[in-house]
Amino acid sequence: MEMSKIGNFSEWYQTVLFDAGIVDIRYPVKGMPVYMPWGFQSLDYMFSFLEKLLDETGHQKMLFPVAIPESTFSKETEHIKGFEDEVLWITHGGLAPLEERLVLRPTSETAMYPMFALWARSHADLPIKIYQTTSVYRHETKATRPLIRGREVYWNEAHTSHATLDEAAQNVEEAIKIYSEFYKALCIPFVVIKRPEFDKFAGALYTYAFDTVMPDGRTLQIATAHNLGDNFAKAYDVKYSTETGEQRYACQTSYGISMRGLAAVISIHGDEKGLKLPFEIAPVQIVFVPIYSKDNNAAVDAVLRPVYESLRTLYRCRYDDSRKRPGEKYYFWELKGVPLRIEAGMRDLSEGKVTLVDRNGTKKQVAIAGIADEIPRAVDAYHKKLYADAKAFFDRHQFTANTVKELREMMDEYRGMIRIGWCGSMECAEELDKLEVGKILGYEKGNAKKRKCIICGRDGDEVIISKSY
Ligand SMILES: [Zn+2]
Repeated sequence: MEMSKIGNFSEWYQTVLFDAGIVDIRYPVKGMPVYMPWGFQSLDYMFSFLEKLLDETGHQKMLFPVAIPESTFSKETEHIKGFEDEVLWITHGGLAPLEERLVLRPTSETAMYPMFALWARSHADLPIKIYQTTSVYRHETKATRPLIRGREVYWNEAHTSHATLDEAAQNVEEAIKIYSEFYKALCIPFVVIKRPEFDKFAGALYTYAFDTVMPDGRTLQIATAHNLGDNFAKAYDVKYSTETGEQRYACQTSYGISMRGLAAVISIHGDEKGLKLPFEIAPVQIVFVPIYSKDNNAAVDAVLRPVYESLRTLYRCRYDDSRKRPGEKYYFWELKGVPLRIEAGMRDLSEGKVTLVDRNGTKKQVAIAGIADEIPRAVDAYHKKLYADAKAFFDRHQFTANTVKELREMMDEYRGMIRIGWCGSMECAEELDKLEVGKILGYEKGNAKKRKCIICGRDGDEVIISKSY
């Protein structure tokens, strides 16, 4: 490593993904990297944490098939229009063409809702709240980038059915709360933005997205939540009978977080030494590095190993007694982003002490007797600094522009998230596109500020514009 991400983000990112063992992009299908053990374990812990949050709020885990019949997929007309350019087809069984072509799911609304139609008979069957952690497929023609844009997207998608539109809207708010808690635990700053009409999910009433700022100033969408209203329920006949026996369409929502969550963690927290993983998702949370000298290996281990044995019942720990020099071990585990390191030589140990170092470089001598109490404090301090650094960068990339000239200067110089006025018309959005000064992300949730449109000068709302991934 030893490469700064600022000014070289793309190169830094490729290097860290390979060196830290996150993905190997040499697999011979574009946009489908191999997840290496360290990368997949991080991803797996990340999704397990999200699943825990979903379980606590009444969602249940399921698994649906990967293939969707063409006739089923095509039922919701807006949805099919939004995805037809990028679906991958299964057309043959052996040499013979299939009687009906199958779609490799690009997202699972059309796989799930015909089944919801069978399960939702009466109001008592609602709400349905389920999720799956799995892969979806999109034939990306743009440049792919591991964990950011690919043809195989590993994600967690949640889907719900409700009796009323109000309940569906409340559920979208709940999803936003869950995702906020999720990204807070990963120390990732974000804004929640309501997408403009032209950029909402195909078939949805409205879409909220979480966006963050990457080290090159471009924004990354790291979660979405959609209120689908009864659009899909009508297409798939998801009906229930009310208490008075009336037949009504259910109202649905869907929301998801993909491996982009890990891309954000790697990119936003990483430094010239490699990864900095939040404690929740680190495959190894605490690494022990015994410092041997002369022939005292056994003596060092005799004191340090029991400390490791006691902590590993509580945390994911590794005891690195390999033959490498301590400096090499530090270098290796820093590259991997392990949050905490406990190191000790004979002199410390004979005084009943170890040194506790976090991945931000904060060092502290700790008595062995007090180590168990010290870990949660160290984790808390580590996270606070991770978040403070990330937030400082994020805040330095928030701007407001009043004229196209200002907007262009800011976009050229810093990118980031720039607040402008927009009248809401397609003409002005297209004009902004043509000027190549960014794409409108939408309306920041909770910000109802009115502003004159930066293009036409008519009354409008404050929106955020950015260059995005
Ligand atoms: Zn305008």
